[in-house]
Amino acid sequence: MDTIDRPQHVTHDVTNQAPPLAGYDVAARDVALLEGMRREGAAWDEDGLHALGERAGSAEAIGWGFEANRYPPVLRTHDRYGNRIDEVDFHPSWHRLMEVAVTHGLHGAPWSEPRAGAHVARAARFYVWSQVESGHGCPISMTYAAVPVLRRRPDLAALFEPVLTSRAYEPELRPLREKRGALCGMAMTEKQGGSDLRANTTRAEKFDGDTYALTGHKWFCSAPMSDAFLVLAQAPGGLTCFFLPRILPDGTRNAIRIQRLKDKLGNRSNASSEIELETALALRIGDEGRGVATIIEMVNHTRLDCVAGSASLMRQAFAQAAHHARHRRAFGALLVDQPLMRNVLADLALESEAATALLLRLARAVDRGADDPDEAAFARVAIALGKYWVCKRAPAHAAEAMECLGGNGYVEESILPRLYRETPVNSIWEGSGNVNALDLLRALAKQPASRDAYLAELARASGADAHFDAALAALGDDLAAGEAAVEGSARRTVERMALLLQASLLIRHAPAPVADAFCASRLGGDWGAAFGTLSPRADLRAIVERAWPA
Ligand SMILES: Cc1cc2nc3c(=O)[nH]c(=O)nc-3n(C[C@H](O)[C@H](O)[C@H](O)COP(=O)(O)OP(=O)(O)OC[C@H]3O[C@@H](n4cnc5c(N)ncnc54)[C@H](O)[C@@H]3O)c2cc1C
Repeated sequence: MDTIDRPQHVTHDVTNQAPPLAGYDVAARDVALLEGMRREGAAWDEDGLHALGERAGSAEAIGWGFEANRYPPVLRTHDRYGNRIDEVDFHPSWHRLMEVAVTHGLHGAPWSEPRAGAHVARAARFYVWSQVESGHGCPISMTYAAVPVLRRRPDLAALFEPVLTSRAYEPELRPLREKRGALCGMAMTEKQGGSDLRANTTRAEKFDGDTYALTGHKWFCSAPMSDAFLVLAQAPGGLTCFFLPRILPDGTRNAIRIQRLKDKLGNRSNASSEIELETALALRIGDEGRGVATIIEMVNHTRLDCVAGSASLMRQAFAQAAHHARHRRAFGALLVDQPLMRNVLADLALESEAATALLLRLARAVDRGADDPDEAAFARVAIALGKYWVCKRAPAHAAEAMECLGGNGYVEESILPRLYRETPVNSIWEGSGNVNALDLLRALAKQPASRDAYLAELARASGADAHFDAALAALGDDLAAGEAAVEGSARRTVERMALLLQASLLIRHAPAPVADAFCASRLGGDWGAAFGTLSPRADLRAIVERAWPA
């Protein structure tokens, strides 16, 4: 056949698409983060933060984040000969993410290199690095949180703290004494209940001295490849906390069977598992019957990291939305210049900044709590309300940020679907929403010093914003009348308290457009039920410009 002169139509011009948001320092333009870390005592770590920020914004690390989720962990229960091995295989990108996290001290620097502001610096780093991938933050967080519990057994801490806080990432399975770096997980939840831990049925029988044999199951055990776990089990004297190594000192495997991995909504890079303990040997930490009281210190630190993780997800979601809006045109103008899109972005920016400011204030309370009773008392209520509220806001925030990218936002390559799937878990684990809210009520009732410390913090912002002053007075009345302590109203109470705390931080430390819009919308009721409903009087441009990502 003769060649046909076909008409040449170009079908694949790519126009009006945003360039990838890569090759930037994630921390560089995060003004709320930088101001906050200076304010809360970690200005000394700015260079370290920017070095990690460069890494988090690099195309290479962004690629690791995608791969670690595209190729989730695989459980190998047995070897080819039928021997039980209970190993989890991870994609190499998971190990790269873990390695960066460990070498930057996210799992333990405040313990191994203590100094004023160490927990603030670590929270800022965790927030920056989690923007690239959240799943691997789980074992990093649990290792960080395990150390204060381990210190309750100084003999164990002397042996294992150096290896748990060292900057060496060694995923290979060996006895703890032979390792340069190790990780610690946590296993409390059982099939019949995770909130009410008194229902735990795992038995602990005395074996030798402080060594017990544990038999039972754990329904959720994230990071089952950890070198050790903090576990709750029923000893003769009641629910007790134990340190459960995965490899015994003689090099044999402890009797921990990984039954299966969970098929989860998000957090897919992280191997959350079900495990069985078959007379597994463990060392007691704390007295028999004091299990919850012993492990609660770990939970306080993991709750702080839930706030960090959610604030991090919000910042990354906002960054993606703002970046897109700055490059995408519709109806003859850039999206960012469309008044309604600017309202949406400003509202998302406010939520993100309030979460970041609260995170850094909470980290300072952890930092100072060891020496300052007021800060310790403040932390007791502020972490519970921060965990409740920031984690609750993240899913709605991610959904709205996704919509800013239109259809592109719904596609995996944009990262928004992963951010969106990731958000609910921070509200579910480490005390689900209701449990956190009830915990706050308990703290208010039992620890007047915590209530006073919280109110004293708020008082520092009074007199500057009428909405804030009115909301604070109303809360004070309800606390005095006991209305705020009604169990069925716990969510109302915690939400008001969290918003007031966030508002107080913004009034004291953020520019007027940010603080004014936050107070008018969140406290004054000049707002709708969805994001993007700020008052037309708000200085939307100033709010969005302050939050530009790159
Ligand atoms: C991805 C993932 C990883 C996890 N990893 C771990 C891990 O490594 N180690 C570990 O120990 N656990 C882990 N968990 C478990 C998690 O901590 C629990 O799921 C959580 O504590 C809730 O327990 P539960 O699932 O048994 O729900 P339940 O305790 O049955 O609670 C169900 C709902 O009831 C609410 N509720 C409970 N009590 C009350 C009350 N008195 N009043 C009102 N409402 C109430 C809760 O807030 C919750 O919304 C993980 C969970 C997930 C999803």
